[in-house]
Amino acid sequence: MELPSLLGTSFACDCGRTHHVPVRRFLYQVGVLGALPQIVREDGGGSACTVIVADTRTWEIGGQQVANALKEAESRVARVIVPDPPQRGPAAHASRAGRPRDDHGPVCDDVTVRALVERLRGERPGLVVAVGSGVINDLSKWAAFQLGVPYVVVATAASMNGYASANVAPTIEGVKVLIEARAPTAVLAEPAVLEQAPHEMTAAGFGDTIAKHQSGADWVMNRFLSDEYYCRFCAGLITDIEPLYLDRPEDIRDGRPRAVQGLFEALFWTGMAMTLVGTSVPASGGEHLFSHTLDMMAQVQGESHDLHGRQVGIGTLLSAALYQRVLVLESPALGSLPPSIDEHLWSVPSVAAAVTEQYESKKQRWGPIRQKIAQRDGWDRLRATLAAEVKSPETIRTWLRRAGAAARPADIGCSRERVRSAILHMHEIRKRFTIVDLAWLAGVLPGSADDLIDQWLA
Ligand SMILES: [Zn+2]
Ligand SMILES: [Zn+2]
Repeated sequence: MELPSLLGTSFACDCGRTHHVPVRRFLYQVGVLGALPQIVREDGGGSACTVIVADTRTWEIGGQQVANALKEAESRVARVIVPDPPQRGPAAHASRAGRPRDDHGPVCDDVTVRALVERLRGERPGLVVAVGSGVINDLSKWAAFQLGVPYVVVATAASMNGYASANVAPTIEGVKVLIEARAPTAVLAEPAVLEQAPHEMTAAGFGDTIAKHQSGADWVMNRFLSDEYYCRFCAGLITDIEPLYLDRPEDIRDGRPRAVQGLFEALFWTGMAMTLVGTSVPASGGEHLFSHTLDMMAQVQGESHDLHGRQVGIGTLLSAALYQRVLVLESPALGSLPPSIDEHLWSVPSVAAAVTEQYESKKQRWGPIRQKIAQRDGWDRLRATLAAEVKSPETIRTWLRRAGAAARPADIGCSRERVRSAILHMHEIRKRFTIVDLAWLAGVLPGSADDLIDQWLA
């Protein structure tokens, strides 16, 4: 099935569900902004106002061009520039922590979205046009959803897979949460803008998209261990696109047009897979926990963290290394996970409470999972099933290096101690069962943490 033919449709899937594709247009072409007036006419509810949302950087990159293109639309056009947060001093409020290193742009949190909603409300928009990538896309999606207004996004970087997703991932009181909103009606990108985006952003998108190889294995593991819902179609959505950037990962490093286009399409459709399934499970497993844990540690400690996709790329390497060590075991004596979370690490009460809730919920599943593994041939069948899904850590590391992506903790400004702490606590923060939990059950963690760092993350 040709993927573009799915846009704006509903279709019955072999998994037994009917999937809905809410995005009607996905346009990656030269002069793409020429499509905006018609999009405003069709999606914008007649004569109401169209509001462009950007930050100071993304306005420079594309905001003015979007405003020019909208002059052809029969709609009033307004703009809202999301301001940068004040520079953070040592005593600044913790909710301003967790900033990507060397970046002082807005963050996606409850405070920022409240201010954005108020400013948008004053304009009475019929359509919101986000111009940006991760944070601006999330803020616009969230604010538009709260106002019950459709939104479209003009992408400025192939940096993450949230363009087509219906969820936003803000930080609220120090906790990274997932909030349901609504996918955009259109995703647009001008090729030259993405090709010329800062290299770290494109490489971050590369990290976010190769994560799918490990999260896919986690999904298969949950189907095997807990009869969880699984959709083969959604799991394999981007298989035909991957060679465009995985055959020669250095094309990502060099910003070559076909590879950047392939990466952007892969990011769009992995985000769409999450929308079709209704959860982040097709694109987020144990490898994402590494990044979320670093973000939350940064939040609690009032420090900065790196770009999502740069951390996820290293998490993907870690996940592959854990799989390798677990799958080699012939008949592990099943151990157990720690009985509770580390309150020392999660020293902010709201964070400790949220982490405890997730962990307690996951603990309910350990018993049935252990029983399933202990069945006759249970371990061997699980190993065979998972071995067919995962990539080796050697492959992941080679991909990251050739693409010029972050491949070592030093690349994301992480000390050995920080990485060690993340590895030993990443199982605590989400209720979903992943390779990290299996590594604890099989006795690979905590004992092999230092070894893993020496072999793969030094
Ligand atoms: Zn399906
Ligand atoms: Zn991600």
